[in-house]
Amino acid sequence: MNVYDTVRMTDVLAPLGYKTVDSPDAADMVILNTCHIREKASEKVFSELGQLRRLKEKRESDGDRMLIGVAGCVAQAEGEEILRRAKQVDMVFGPQTYHRLPEMVTKALGNTSGRGISDTDFPVESKFDFLPEESQTHGPSAFLSVQEGCDKFCTFCVVPYTRGAEFSRPVTAIVDEAKRLVANGTREVTLLGQNVNGYHGEGADGKTWRLGRLLRELAEVDGIERLRYVTSHPNDMDDELIDTHRDLSELMPYLHLPIQSGSDRVLEMMNRKHTGDEYRRVIDKLRDACPELALSSDFIVGFPGESDQDFADTLRLVTDVNYAQAYSFKYSPRPGTPAASIDAQVPEDVKSTRLAMLQELLNAQQMAFNQSMIGKTLSVLIERKGREVGQLGGRSPYMQSVFVQAPERLMGQIVDVKIETAKPNSLTGSVVTGDFGVFDAHNMEHAKAAMEGRI
Ligand code: SAH
Ligand code: SF4
Repeated sequence: MNVYDTVRMTDVLAPLGYKTVDSPDAADMVILNTCHIREKASEKVFSELGQLRRLKEKRESDGDRMLIGVAGCVAQAEGEEILRRAKQVDMVFGPQTYHRLPEMVTKALGNTSGRGISDTDFPVESKFDFLPEESQTHGPSAFLSVQEGCDKFCTFCVVPYTRGAEFSRPVTAIVDEAKRLVANGTREVTLLGQNVNGYHGEGADGKTWRLGRLLRELAEVDGIERLRYVTSHPNDMDDELIDTHRDLSELMPYLHLPIQSGSDRVLEMMNRKHTGDEYRRVIDKLRDACPELALSSDFIVGFPGESDQDFADTLRLVTDVNYAQAYSFKYSPRPGTPAASIDAQVPEDVKSTRLAMLQELLNAQQMAFNQSMIGKTLSVLIERKGREVGQLGGRSPYMQSVFVQAPERLMGQIVDVKIETAKPNSLTGSVVTGDFGVFDAHNMEHAKAAMEGRI
């Protein structure tokens, strides 16, 4: 979501004449868009600010002006602390106020108080009503925020405090944004929300629509060929949404559905409001609806009070579900969250050992999943250049990175790729369809022609 917000900030700033550059060295303004989810992410902000201070001082000694802004959830949670500790910062603002950037920039440019300005309100107005239309191409695969904030208050999580209460955008605004993305070359849209399947926006008929209905509406938009959504909570996986996985060919067969822990005791302490078996039942229903569905999850190890048995329950759940990929983290106590003040914190070395064991299991599942693709033909949306000469990269329906040797004109196209090799984090193969014909990656003549732009 920070990627989406960053793009939208550049849209807000475009009318003021700002555009993005590749490095901060010559920038008139640098905005750090920050994440507060774990301590490591927040700490990074202060080290980055140290580097920017030196850059700003150098620029000032050359007679140039450089504004520094801190945006996102660290700004929301620690705005005052940032202004106190980092005098070089001109503006701090949270995730819900960046539509006010033009006023903030004007104020900051005229500010002589020696202390930066701050806007970390949760405004009554929605920023979405004030953001300008997108001023740039978002690429073949684009994000679209449909829901924000969270009312679930899992005991480890800062999101409800930093992003605020749940809010869903109305359907027409989302469909209009999707149409503009498509008009600018986007073919795959990923719907975003901290709790995206909690979506309950105003539908075209004035009634409240859930995510399944919204997905069906978006699948009708001409030019949208692929849909995804992230991140979902197991309790909001309603039947209508599960059915869309059976009915919509545009909806990719990949779902990120975090469970955090396989232990019912820990799930309860986390305030997740479901058990391991309830999650397993949701997975069963999803797989009934879409047998090829690939699953992903988030896990936290070392939640306060997590015993060896609790951790063993997590390993058992992972074994039962069999994930295509997953993210796993050591529990990180976050200021102001209930779990941070539980006495029974798990020692760091125990967290590290458990994380290594869990990741070994998850990595083995991911490798096996990737290897099962060898010899299959997958549709791949080509969206970037690879590292090797003549190489392009894209995503399979299951979110795997796939690399092929192919001419650049295939950028933005969905092509069939026959998979030849599998690595832990990527696949390689040969393009076998479209106007392109069969392409042999080892055919040097063909590769040479591609590089010279003859094909
Ligand atoms: N809304 C999503 C998760 C959003 S936060 C959900 O309910 O699943 C993204 C991930 O960060 C979480 O799934 C969790 O695994 C991790 N996370 C959040 N707070 C954390 C903390 N205090 N320590 C470690 N990981 C955390
Ligand atoms: Fe955080 Fe997700 Fe729980 Fe909301 S549902 S509090 S975003 S982990």
